[in-house]
Amino acid sequence: MTSLAHLQMILERTQPLRWPRGERLPLFLWQLQGTPDLSDTALADALRELDRRGIAMLARWTTGDERDESLAQALRLGRIQQELGLLVGANCIAPLYSFFDGSPATAHVDDQRQSFFDDSFGKVPMGCPFGIEQRYGAIRSQVEFYADAYQRAGLQLGFVYSDWEVDGPLEWNDAWEHSKRCSRCRAQLPQIEDFTSFQHTLRTLRGEMQRQVYAQPLLSRWPQALVGNYAVYPHNGWRYWYDYFERFKPSLPHAFDAREPARPWADEFSGTGYSFAMPVMYTWYRTYDWYDYTTDYRWFYNMLKVASNAGQSAPRGLPIISFVHHNVTDPPAEGLGHVQPMSEAAYRELLWHALLRGHDAFFSWCPDDEAAHEAPLLHETWAESLEYAEFLTGGVPVTFDVPRREGAVLSALRLGDRLLVRRSDFAGSEGQRAWLELDGRRIEVTDGSGCRIVSIDK
Ligand SMILES: [Zn+2]
Repeated sequence: MTSLAHLQMILERTQPLRWPRGERLPLFLWQLQGTPDLSDTALADALRELDRRGIAMLARWTTGDERDESLAQALRLGRIQQELGLLVGANCIAPLYSFFDGSPATAHVDDQRQSFFDDSFGKVPMGCPFGIEQRYGAIRSQVEFYADAYQRAGLQLGFVYSDWEVDGPLEWNDAWEHSKRCSRCRAQLPQIEDFTSFQHTLRTLRGEMQRQVYAQPLLSRWPQALVGNYAVYPHNGWRYWYDYFERFKPSLPHAFDAREPARPWADEFSGTGYSFAMPVMYTWYRTYDWYDYTTDYRWFYNMLKVASNAGQSAPRGLPIISFVHHNVTDPPAEGLGHVQPMSEAAYRELLWHALLRGHDAFFSWCPDDEAAHEAPLLHETWAESLEYAEFLTGGVPVTFDVPRREGAVLSALRLGDRLLVRRSDFAGSEGQRAWLELDGRRIEVTDGSGCRIVSIDK
């Protein structure tokens, strides 16, 4: 649950909004999940204070022995939020686990009818993509337990996300070899020797699972709700980052950008029915060594590629709520070594460029001991962006260009005959000329900090 210490820290380290949030989505913080141990009156006061800062609080849905207590606390939070006119939202991580529960029916099966699992994803016994349909009902009922209770209580759920990742069909690590050894996988996948076909089938199945057990039960009850999952978003067919549980395998398809092994990625999002996109813009430790840029641009370049991919690929009107993290993500136990962290200034610029490329809101993920750093840093930039809420809500991104040659980076939103532009300079590019292309015209953007509004009707 949200600890009182975190709640107090966040209230102390963030300021009430200077510009109204209007129709913009609130900010989501990892440490504000689960109903804090406060009376109804004190909880309402805390929620009002968070709302003055534009920050949401989410209920935390659990399973097992804690479930009844979680539900009671979730309903209490939701009722107070609804009375205050605030977003009613929930974290639906626990109810989606685990399809791969280690039971024999979920295992791959070899030609001698021996069952086996793939242990290349850590401690999760990854089984057969074609052996888990019998688990759908159990998982769906864990979601419906909450959905039914919210419905009975007359609550209007507005936002539900999950962080369902190391479970269900995944094509990376040693998954392909395991499937090729499995008689059931071979029967289901006549083109199993073709990785692209294998990947496409698994991602389609993965999307369908999420739709049946999670998106559909929620969206059928609350068609206007935002429902999504970590790392599931429209894209251009490529992924430029690796999650903590994924290894680079040179034998699997990839294309190098410097030393970044970008991977072809199949469409998972459209099968899910999700009503918002959830890209992941993190300072993954391994990113640093992929490029030869100056320190900040190593991080910035990769994260802007991810941001631009999602911004350009999401259909208009689909909200993009991105997971973000500033401190180096998933560093080795022995420490950072030669890896230099991203500066706060560059991180702030990255957030701005994501907003000017169509991202709508952010979700801060971080370990608890980083929250005092991450939450105010993110909040400050996000709160400043509300000065331009009109552009952010109604504007259309003008460019998704990510310069491979380090220098000036431009982003802009067009609203009618005006542009909201931002220029960030790297490797001493200040003073160099830079242009945006717009309707066949070149619009020069001079250097200088912050956002500017430029008229384009000349
Ligand atoms: Zn199998």
